[in-house]
Amino acid sequence: MDEIKISGLKIYAYHGVYARENEQGQNFVVNAVLGCSTQRAGITDDLEASISYEEVCEIIQQEMKAQVWKLVEAVAEHISAVLFAKYPALQELSLEIAKPDAPIDADFRSVSVCIHRKRHTVYLAYGSNEGECINQIQEGIAAIDHDPFCRVKHMTKPIKSTPYGGVEQKDFYNGVIRMETIYEPLELMRFLQSVEKAQGRDRSEQAIHWGPRTLDLDILLYDDLIYDSKELTIPHPEMAKRDFVILPLAEIAPYERHPLTHKTIREMAQNPMEKHVKKN
Ligand code: AMP
Repeated sequence: MDEIKISGLKIYAYHGVYARENEQGQNFVVNAVLGCSTQRAGITDDLEASISYEEVCEIIQQEMKAQVWKLVEAVAEHISAVLFAKYPALQELSLEIAKPDAPIDADFRSVSVCIHRKRHTVYLAYGSNEGECINQIQEGIAAIDHDPFCRVKHMTKPIKSTPYGGVEQKDFYNGVIRMETIYEPLELMRFLQSVEKAQGRDRSEQAIHWGPRTLDLDILLYDDLIYDSKELTIPHPEMAKRDFVILPLAEIAPYERHPLTHKTIREMAQNPMEKHVKKN
């Protein structure tokens, strides 16, 4: 990938865990590497087709002066979210923030935090069968789109489906969305759980497994990542089974491939194991 680099950008600001850092301030030094295609700008010789490093420097300066954080990590995360939201062409970012005069008792040249962020494509399944279903789905998806780390690109229309898992309950509204995010997988899951909670989702011990849901958001695919931990499995292990997930996914991502089986979503949608979608 092409890169636009900014190095040694000096900014006087007030971030730090010590009160004297917040009161007196100190010098920060920023290095940024912006990963994006510069070919269009190269062919047209037009700044509009590129990302202006002058503008990026201004944004970094403004953001670092507009607010005070304790941690350099928080400063870097915030600036990264602002830059990804502002520049759709930005695909990857390495951002280093250094404190050459950090007030610690050591002989050193500089200390710094360097983060690497990337625009990821994610497919989510949504479902609801309790409360104001359509409203909760719309509000949940709007909350995802308004989050500085996310952008919703496409949403399929809700389809009605019969419940699975053998618990007596109302029909579901289901669909999928395509989104972009700079969240890493576990952070994305935590964020989605906060969106579910804001829509009244009960995650208590008492809530019935497979039971009614005000809003359920599942990560189906995250780029072509294969990931498995106690809390999170990607690709979603059940995605191939259920018609209310695989049929809408085939509408918006027919040629994506399942990273484990390498089948296209269109192939996977030909004969789903469980059929729940209701015909109108
Ligand atoms: P659910 O009842 O469908 O919301 O799922 C309950 C749990 O599934 C969550 O607490 C997650 O920790 C876990 N989980 C595992 N894989 C995934 C995934 N791909 N997307 C969302 N949740 C997942």
